[in-house]
Amino acid sequence: MHFTSYIFTMSFLWTAHRFSGGALALDVANSVVLRHDEARRVDRFDIDAQLQAFPQAAAEFCAERAIFGEVVPVIAVSKGAFLALREATDRYFRSRVLSGSDDALLAALLEAVALVLRGASEPAGVDRATAHSALALIAMPEPERMKICGNCGWLFLDRSKNRSRAWCDMAVCGNRAKANRHYRRRKQEDPA
Ligand SMILES: [Zn+2]
Repeated sequence: MHFTSYIFTMSFLWTAHRFSGGALALDVANSVVLRHDEARRVDRFDIDAQLQAFPQAAAEFCAERAIFGEVVPVIAVSKGAFLALREATDRYFRSRVLSGSDDALLAALLEAVALVLRGASEPAGVDRATAHSALALIAMPEPERMKICGNCGWLFLDRSKNRSRAWCDMAVCGNRAKANRHYRRRKQEDPA
């Protein structure tokens, strides 16, 4: 392990903010931070300690914790299928939010779900729980409540009454967007 990843391991925590998705499958998809930004993207599951710590944090912070109860870390032999499910989840739902459901991406997601459900993982494994969460999201009523955060690009469910949420987490991304707007305004007023 090189030095920078050691620092990451030491300073990184699965906080409530990391579970802003509102569904386990989205929180799993959001474990890749700044996915759209090749230069700055970080895969939190690249570091095994963070992958191992995820289920315990999910039991504390995930919006679906009551449905899945306690989930256990994915066992080594199932890690590949779990990560494939995560990528298929992100691809299908991101595309559905942007341009509607795509059958090819849906089929790929269903295949990834099937692979996990047929696999050798623990019955209470986070991978199986994620597969069930993804299935529930495919069939969710009011799919327009799924959105992409205007600041960080995470997928999240907008459960607000008037469906007006633009940020995964107002306290983090909402404030950052506000600060950026303020900064741009100041720059316009005083270009020097
Ligand atoms: Zn965000």
